[in-house]
Amino acid sequence: MSNNIQNKSRRNFIRNGFTGLAGAILVPSVIKKDRKSFNLQKKDRKFIYRTLGKTGIKLPVVSMGTYNATNVTNSALDAGIVHIDTSADYSKGNDERMFGEVFKKRPRDSFVIGTSIGMWQYRKADQIKNTITAKTLRDYIEGSLRRLDLDYIDIYYLGGIQHKEIVEHKPYLEILKEYKKAGKLRFLGVTTHANEPEIIRSATDGGIFDVVLTAYNFRKNNREEIKKAVKYAAGKGMGIAAMKTQAGVYWDKKEKKKMINMKAALKWALQDENIHTAIPSFKNSDQLYEALSVMENLTLTPQEKADLKLNQGSSSTGLFCSQCEECIPQCPANLDIPTLMRSYMYAYGYESPAKARETLDYVGLSNVPCFNCASCSVICSSGFDVKKKVTDIVRLKDVPKEFLVGYWT
Ligand code: SF4
Ligand code: SF4
Repeated sequence: MSNNIQNKSRRNFIRNGFTGLAGAILVPSVIKKDRKSFNLQKKDRKFIYRTLGKTGIKLPVVSMGTYNATNVTNSALDAGIVHIDTSADYSKGNDERMFGEVFKKRPRDSFVIGTSIGMWQYRKADQIKNTITAKTLRDYIEGSLRRLDLDYIDIYYLGGIQHKEIVEHKPYLEILKEYKKAGKLRFLGVTTHANEPEIIRSATDGGIFDVVLTAYNFRKNNREEIKKAVKYAAGKGMGIAAMKTQAGVYWDKKEKKKMINMKAALKWALQDENIHTAIPSFKNSDQLYEALSVMENLTLTPQEKADLKLNQGSSSTGLFCSQCEECIPQCPANLDIPTLMRSYMYAYGYESPAKARETLDYVGLSNVPCFNCASCSVICSSGFDVKKKVTDIVRLKDVPKEFLVGYWT
C-alpha cells in the first residue's frame, strides 16, 4: 500500500469512530524514537544473579520476554541479558525466525532461549487434548527448532496451562521426555497465568518439569497463594521465572496518564528470592535501561513502595485482569471474558495491537453478545466495567490488519 493511500485510509479509519483504539494502534511506542542514548555495555556493571533451580543455569534476575522482537534484542544481549523467552505462537512463528537471525551471530553458550507451544487459547482441558494431539506437539517442537535454527532449545514450555490434567497428560510427557533424551530440549517447563498455584505444585510433583514460568505481580488477587506455591516449588529444585510483572503497564487507559512505576513493579516481584528471573518485555533503550538498573539493585525505595499503592489492595481498577475466571459463569453468553481482557491489556497497556488482535482472534467471536445485552450481570473481582471493555476491544476485529504494527498475515 502506498503511503498516500495508507494515510488516507488511516484518516477514514479514525473518522469512522475508532478514535480510542487508533491511539493504541497508530502511535505504538515501538515506533517512537528512543529519547536518550545510554551506555548499555555490561562492563563495570554488577548484576544480581540467581540460579534457575535444578537446571543449574545462572541468570541475571532480569531476562527478556518478547513479542515482535525488535532491534533492542541485540542491545539487550550486549548489555548482559542472557535469557530470552518467546513462543511459537508469537507473530505466527516470526518472532522465533527473527531470533534465529540474531542468534546466528552469537556463540551458542552466550544465550538461553525459552519457547513454548501456546495452549492458553483453550479454556477446557478436553479441548486442549483434542486439538493439540501428540503429533501436533511434535510438529510444534520441530517447527521451533527449525525457525530458531538451533540444534537444541534450552527451555521448552507447555504454554498457558491452567489445568492440572494437562501437566499430567501422558502423551505430552512422553514426547517431551523423548526430545529431552535426544538432547533437543535441554529442560522442560510449563507457563501459567491462571490457576497458577495448582499448576506450579503439580508441575513440581510430576518430576518431569524443570522450570515454571508464572504470572506474578503486586496486583494479582492470588499473589499470596502463588508466593506459597513458588516457595514450595523452589524448595524442591524447580527453576522459577516470573512474567506479567508489569501488571498491565497503566493504572488506567484514560489518556495513559497513570503509568505504573515499572521499575518498582519489577523489583516487587524480584524481592521474592524464590523468583530466579523475570521476563518483562522492553521495546526501546529507555525500558532496557530501567531493567538493567533493577538488575543491579532490587531495593524498593520509599517512593517506589508508595507508587505501588500496596496498602490499597487490589481494589483500584486498571488494565490488569488477574484471570481469576470468576466472570465466566456470571455471563449468560459464557463469553471468554478473561481472554478479551488480556487482549484489552495488550492493546492499551503493552501497546501491542498485533498481539491484542491475535489474542482476540482466538476467542472466535462471530457476534458480540454484549451489544444486545441490556445490562451486564458480571461483577468482576477487579472492578472492571466488563461490558464497556469488551465492546471497546472487539472493534479491533474491524481494523485493517495493515494498520497493526507487527501483525503477520
Ligand atoms: S475480568 Fe475480572 S472476574 Fe474476569 S478474570 Fe478478569 S479479573 Fe477475574
Ligand atoms: S454484557 Fe456482560 S453479561 Fe452481557 S454478554 Fe457481555 S459480558 Fe456477558
